[in-house]
Amino acid sequence: MSLFGKLKNALFSKEAVSERKEITVYFENGLLTRAVPPPGTDLYECREIIYNARYIVSDGRKYDLENVRSIESIRSPEFDYFDNSEIGVTGNLVYILRMKASRLKKDGKVDVAIALLKRATEMMPNSKVGWTKKDYLRFPDWLCETGEFEAAKTARNCIEKSFETTLNANRQLQLHQLENAEKLNTDLVEANYFCGCCGECAKYRGRWFSISGKDGRFPKMPVDYGCNCQGISLHPVIENISKPLYCPENKDIVEYSNRPFIDDRDEKEKEIHQHYLDRGVFESVKYQDKEDYEKLIRLIPDEMPKSFSAYRRMKMSETDKFLCISEEASKLGMNIRLPEKEKLIIDRYNKYEKALKENNKTQ
Ligand SMILES: [Zn+2]
Repeated sequence: MSLFGKLKNALFSKEAVSERKEITVYFENGLLTRAVPPPGTDLYECREIIYNARYIVSDGRKYDLENVRSIESIRSPEFDYFDNSEIGVTGNLVYILRMKASRLKKDGKVDVAIALLKRATEMMPNSKVGWTKKDYLRFPDWLCETGEFEAAKTARNCIEKSFETTLNANRQLQLHQLENAEKLNTDLVEANYFCGCCGECAKYRGRWFSISGKDGRFPKMPVDYGCNCQGISLHPVIENISKPLYCPENKDIVEYSNRPFIDDRDEKEKEIHQHYLDRGVFESVKYQDKEDYEKLIRLIPDEMPKSFSAYRRMKMSETDKFLCISEEASKLGMNIRLPEKEKLIIDRYNKYEKALKENNKTQ
């Protein structure tokens, strides 16, 4: 091949690569509409290319996802609800920003990745996607991995607080269900529950309530009842059409709804709820362990196991090696040993989980 031919080839392939990279993805009201140049005919099939796109245009404004200042200037749109098409949630702007952030992080562009994840996290509450706490905690997790421990702690506290208030899923669901009740033109709701509810939720569960309080046969729906346990949720019901889900056969729903307001859970139900609380402790210990691990791997890399899961295993069984590390850590002012109280809770949690698994196997 002539030199000219070789040069032309090299240039062409370079162009092809950069063209693929410099694809621009368009969004309207937070939902993916098209990509230019089109990477293929089906957006869902081409989503891997879309997650890698450097440029986006959201509601007519262009942003560069590899430039921190541009990322910080991304405006939060008025998100539309995504439909049930194949692309669904994967076409949501926040979803795509999070995917792009992960790819940037994988490529070692950590600063841009964190800036992008931060902006995406700020937009999550309005994005019409039911993100879990774990989704939100990815941001402090990444900060932690880069040694930004103070910033990680602040972000984490902020997320925890939001989950007690504005992001409380029960409360959000309740608002949504009240809208539904209005659409269905009914004043009645039923308190559905999962058997692992708390003693307070137990008082409300299974009843029918009058939303307005005007239907004197039923108790008035509690206002602002949003418990943090996996508790009750209120769903609209229509008299003479909806069948009460929890009311015993031999009882009338009016009578059942007016039963005494007491915690009437049995032992099994209390146990399930206890396990739910234990899970909270388990998760928070795991989080602290992760933070400790990231710190120690920087401070005493030679002493530390290569993976976090290996560190956790040695911690849980308090091996000699772990005790050595713990001694080193205490010289650095860190206490990484598990307090006796937490240890008992985690043992109980693990035992219960194991029993659950065995139960599942035999069933
Ligand atoms: Zn509760």
